[in-house]
Amino acid sequence: MRPLPRSLDPLPDETLTGFVLRLAHRLGTTPAEIVHRTGLSSGPGLPTRLPLSFQHHLDDVHLTGFARATHLSPAEVNGMLLAPLGQRYGPLNPAFTPRNTPARMIYDNPWVLTRSTRYCPPCLAGNGTAVQDRHGGPWKRLWRLPVNFLCVRHQRLLAHRCPRCGEPAQAARTTSVIARLSDDALDPWQCRSAEARSAPAEHPAHACGADLTRESAPAGELDSATMAALVQVQRHLAGLLAAGGPESTTSAGAPVPVAHYFADLRATVAMIFRTWPEARPYAGTSFLAAVLDAEHASRTAQAQPLLNTAGKKKTSKPYTAPPTDSLATGAVLQIATRLLRAADPCEARESMTPLVHRLRDADRALSVYLCRAAWISTPMRTAVGDC
Ligand SMILES: [Zn+2]
Ligand SMILES: [Zn+2]
Repeated sequence: MRPLPRSLDPLPDETLTGFVLRLAHRLGTTPAEIVHRTGLSSGPGLPTRLPLSFQHHLDDVHLTGFARATHLSPAEVNGMLLAPLGQRYGPLNPAFTPRNTPARMIYDNPWVLTRSTRYCPPCLAGNGTAVQDRHGGPWKRLWRLPVNFLCVRHQRLLAHRCPRCGEPAQAARTTSVIARLSDDALDPWQCRSAEARSAPAEHPAHACGADLTRESAPAGELDSATMAALVQVQRHLAGLLAAGGPESTTSAGAPVPVAHYFADLRATVAMIFRTWPEARPYAGTSFLAAVLDAEHASRTAQAQPLLNTAGKKKTSKPYTAPPTDSLATGAVLQIATRLLRAADPCEARESMTPLVHRLRDADRALSVYLCRAAWISTPMRTAVGDC
């Protein structure tokens, strides 16, 4: 792998895809050329795709080749991947989300955004330094974890869709994590989705091209109590995920490693949705409770047709994924963090018991599934008892 003539320093928390887009912009070429020249493609010609799993994990050959070509250390490249986040984030941790290979971690795992991302328009615009003015700010790794729903710095909910075409940001329609790999007309902060009405669908002539740093869907005004509640939850979760954050935290009334806490959070979210409105009294504001009423209704509507489908039933599935919408995510995490914040195991058990009972009646299979040792922490298993 020959080193590129010039490279870039990765920005804090930048994804591999974001880095490739900025580097292509800097070198005045296409992302396909960068993928090719950094060894992330296999065949002799220019690649048409960057595999979805490459944003999560690179094997040693790809990692060292990419590092050499971009003048970075292997550790810097590793820091752009999602897999290392699993040290703190249970849904990406093999102990709580068993998979055969590291690359498979992202498959059928709704707790990591693989085919799109959330984003904060002002963060994407950059922080005003010369290099960010020229090539844009970072597409952040943490935006790929659904537990991040709000930018604390800019005090706004993260966006998820392009305000012009309505497609999810960085949507991977095919099996490529960067769409339109050979398009040299798009800046890193532009929407790469196909322009509406253009045909044929597989090879659309034009990209939407909306500037995602400028065009922002009008963020519905949140009342100040709701915003304060959501900021508090996001600060707490962001603090736990931050590199150099605490080793352990409290879950269900006892100390656990941080990764265990996020595993418990995932299970608690499923319990909240499957037993709604059992946890409704824990909502921080009446607005957040109403948001969850609507979210629950849409999940029930998704689950309904599955009840009448023959074969292997997946009726729990609509209840176990985090919401797509940032506001609904914040709303359910506000309740989940509150339930897990018990002062001691007794209190944890007390607050969990109504949900546990209701879940057992409503969905025996899900209640067994959620309580496996390979899914939740030991204190959480104590709190949810003999389920
Ligand atoms: Zn921001
Ligand atoms: Zn668009």
